[in-house]
Amino acid sequence: MAIAHTPSRATDSLAAVLATVGVVLMALLTLYLVGFDQGAISRSGMYLHELMHDGRHLLGVPCH
Ligand SMILES: [Zn+2]
Repeated sequence: MAIAHTPSRATDSLAAVLATVGVVLMALLTLYLVGFDQGAISRSGMYLHELMHDGRHLLGVPCH
């Protein structure tokens, strides 16, 4: 059984677009914080880097 959603109004489509944009932005922010942050942007020193260190290696992101 397939579930299909067909927006009936323009506001439904706008809400779907805004939700999609929000999810994509949060995913990119998470990717940045896990993979690339060195403390310069997050102003956390090396705290986030050390916190996400195993995740970086697990994902194969160059670290050190
Ligand atoms: Zn490392």
